[in-house]
Amino acid sequence: MAHNGTTRRELAALATAGAAAVLIDGIAAPRTAQARLARGMARDMIQLNANESPYGPSAGARAAMTRSQEVAARYPGDLEDELKAVLAAQHGVRADQIVLGCGSGEILRMADMAFLGPERSAVVAEPTFEAVLAYAGAARGNAVKVPLNAEFRHDLPAMAGACGAGTGLVYVCNPNNPTGTVVTTDELAAFMKRVPASVTVLLDEAYLHFVERADVRSGLDLLAEHDNLVVVRTFSKIYGLAGMRLGYAVGSTARIAELKRHATANNANAAVLAAALASLAEPDLVPRMRKTMNDTRGALCAALIGDGRRIIPTEANFVMVEVGGDVAELISSFAERKILVGRKFPSLPTWLRVSVGTPEETAAFLKALRELRPAATSAAR
Ligand code: PMP
Repeated sequence: MAHNGTTRRELAALATAGAAAVLIDGIAAPRTAQARLARGMARDMIQLNANESPYGPSAGARAAMTRSQEVAARYPGDLEDELKAVLAAQHGVRADQIVLGCGSGEILRMADMAFLGPERSAVVAEPTFEAVLAYAGAARGNAVKVPLNAEFRHDLPAMAGACGAGTGLVYVCNPNNPTGTVVTTDELAAFMKRVPASVTVLLDEAYLHFVERADVRSGLDLLAEHDNLVVVRTFSKIYGLAGMRLGYAVGSTARIAELKRHATANNANAAVLAAALASLAEPDLVPRMRKTMNDTRGALCAALIGDGRRIIPTEANFVMVEVGGDVAELISSFAERKILVGRKFPSLPTWLRVSVGTPEETAAFLKALRELRPAATSAAR
């Protein structure tokens, strides 16, 4: 009875449900993440757009998260202390030289709040990961952008030259997102000598675990000499915990204390702390995941080069490929095929960033790219 109120509500509910459904392999599936999870359909898209690990947390980390239900009723202070102690031992620093964050994104925001202001600006590369720039507004700070050099690498001499009395922090992303390029430890050491001690150097090592070059080591090696260096790490990438949110920073007690003033108390939850502790207790986890993902990266890069495409040599779990035209439309075409790639970086508008997935996901990406944007000079296939 269409005129009946209840029936109208039911019809409306059905219509809404219909609008919310998407087709997955020809089957109508619910759009919300919650509903997909309930049906065991968390992955209806191939997600190569956020440089996550396609493998997720280790078995040990998953078990630790499950066990963490036992302590879910309690604030996680003890677990925070435990994790900071483990990280301190691993990095050869004291626990008060570490601050945790709800993802390393929160650390970047804390840094803006602590070190920027109307009189103190940031120096950043262009393009680089945008968070420092995005949060600078909240700190009422401006940014000076220094273009990458001809090799798509940070132009560290120019960035050091851009640092002056009005600079609060300089952000170095190593490897750089979105280019995957690196600065060597020697280059970084020379840069640290030039940057005034009043300027905080925020060294983002979100992707350092993927680097295999011997001349690129962690900036943690330089901490003892430079009180103004803050190294930022995350559990979102090689540890496969992006959805759980945990990052941290290591630096001098003074700089870390300044960051902590802007941290929310208990910003790391019990489940991710347990997962992080379990992950760090598995010494082969990082080398194993590095090999797995870098093997796929190598195959992907070889295929792209084999097709005659230009890529930026990468040390991270993503690669930039030239697509010979504006990338925005191509990103949409991929999405229509249920493959998420990108995003567009305005200063590199004809380059597509694709994350390293599983071999199967990577093969699906390559197939779609060959169909959507055949390489001009591609070898016969
Ligand atoms: N730094 C870099 C360079 C990143 O690419 C990202 C995320 N893509 C982050 C920090 C933030 O990651 P999270 O907050 O998940 O630690």
